[in-house]
Amino acid sequence: MSRLVMKFGGTSVADIDRIKNVARHVKREVDHGHQVAVVVSAMSGATNQLVAWTRAAAPLHDAREYDTVVASGEQVTSGLLAIALQEIGVNARSWQGWQIPIRTDASHGAARIADIDGARLVERLAQGQVAVIAGFQGIGPDNRIATLGRGGSDTSAVAIAAAIGADRCDIYTDVDGVYTTDPRIVPKARRLDKVSFEEMLEMASLGAKVLQVRSVELAMVRNVRTFVRSSFEPVDGPGMADENPPGTLICDEDEIVEKQVVTGIAYSKDEAQISLRRVPDKPGVAAHVFGPLAEANINVDMIVQNISEDGSLTDLTFTVPNADYERARKVLEKAQAEVGYQAIQGSSDVAKVSVIGIGMRSHAGVAADAFKALASKGINIRAITTSEIKISVLIDAPYTELAVRTLHSLYGLDGK
Ligand code: ADP
Ligand code: ASP
Ligand code: MG
Repeated sequence: MSRLVMKFGGTSVADIDRIKNVARHVKREVDHGHQVAVVVSAMSGATNQLVAWTRAAAPLHDAREYDTVVASGEQVTSGLLAIALQEIGVNARSWQGWQIPIRTDASHGAARIADIDGARLVERLAQGQVAVIAGFQGIGPDNRIATLGRGGSDTSAVAIAAAIGADRCDIYTDVDGVYTTDPRIVPKARRLDKVSFEEMLEMASLGAKVLQVRSVELAMVRNVRTFVRSSFEPVDGPGMADENPPGTLICDEDEIVEKQVVTGIAYSKDEAQISLRRVPDKPGVAAHVFGPLAEANINVDMIVQNISEDGSLTDLTFTVPNADYERARKVLEKAQAEVGYQAIQGSSDVAKVSVIGIGMRSHAGVAADAFKALASKGINIRAITTSEIKISVLIDAPYTELAVRTLHSLYGLDGK
C-alpha cells in the first residue's frame, strides 16, 4: 500500500463529466489499496473570470479581497469532486486550505506556503477516507484566505505530498508528460521519460507552464517523487496503476542515464524590452536605473549594456515583466534627470526563447549553433543571457514559433 497525492488541473475538472472522469481515476487508486489525497484546481477558465471581476470592480484593489474571490474556484471543484466520489461509492471529504490548515506567509496574491499540519489528513487517510483538497489556497498570518500565485495548485500538491510523507505526487494535466517543448506549438515535440529537477526548474521559470516554478523547487528540496501524467488517458489504460505510470518523472540528475546536451526549449511572451538611449557611461548609472525599479518591486531579467568607445555615452537595454511595462516606463521617466539618458524606447511585442540542458556544462558551441540557426531564418536577436545550463534570446514576438521549431530541430529533439 502506498500513500498518493493526485493533483488535477483546470482542464481535468473543466465540467461535470470531466470531474466524474477524475473520480474514476481516484477510485482506481483506492481500489488498488492506496491512501489518496487529491488536490484540485478550479474549472478551466474559472480563475481568469474571477480575476477579471476583481479588476472590473476596481483596477487597484485590496489583495486580501482578491484572494477571497479567486480562491473560490477551488472551493467549488473540491466539493463537486467529493460528491462525485461519494456517488461511485468512495468515502471522500473536501478540505479548504484553512481547514487543514495550510499556513502561508503574508504575501496575498502570491503567498508562499510556510507550514502544513498533515496530522488530521493522515488520520482521515488511515481511516480509508479520500481527502479532496482545494489547491491554490491557504491561510495567512492575518487569518485570512491567501492564494499561491497563478498555477499554484501544483505547489499545493507537492507541499501536501511532503507534509503527509506521500510515496508519490502525480500531477494530472491535459498532456501526458513533460515534452521537449510545448507540444501545442511543436507537434514534433517528444515526451521525456525523466527530467532533472534543475532542468525542470529552468524550463518552468522560462515559460513551460506545465508545472509552477515553486512546485519544482519544493519537490527538489523535499525530495518528492513527482510524475506529470494525463487525466485524458483511459482510466484503466496500460500501466495506469503501476508504480511508474506513463508520464514524466521529475528526478535527480543521477537517475538519468541517457544525458542529452539539450533537453528542451521553452518560450515566454510575458516580457517587455526597455532601452535607454545615450546614457552617460560612468560609475553609478546602473544603480540609478535599477534602484528605483527594485523599489517599485519590478523584476529586471535580461540586461545588455554597451561599453562606449570614448567613455562618454552608451545604450542600456533590459527586460521587465509585461505586466509591469507601463509602470517601469513611468518610474524611469521620473528618474530621467538623475540617470541622464536622452531617450527611452521599448516594446512589449517581444518573446524570450530559451535552450535548456545540463549537458551544456560540458559542451562548448551550443550557443554559437543557436545564433547561427536563428540568423539563417532571419531572426534578429535583441538580447542574450546565459547560465551554466541555459541560453535565452530575446526576439520579436511574431518569430516565436519559428525560433522554437528551428532550435528544436537543430538540437535533434524532433520526434517522428
Ligand atoms: P493544468 O490546468 O493541468 O495545470 P496547464 O495549462 O497549467 O495545465 O499546463 C499544461 C500545459 O502546459 C499543456 O497543455 C502545454 O500546452 C503546456 N506546456 C508548455 N510547455 C510544455 C512542455 N515542455 N511539456 C508539456 N506541456 C507544456
Ligand atoms: N486555478 C488557479 C489558476 O488558474 C491555480 C491552478 O490552476 O493551479 O491559476
Ligand atoms: Mg497549471
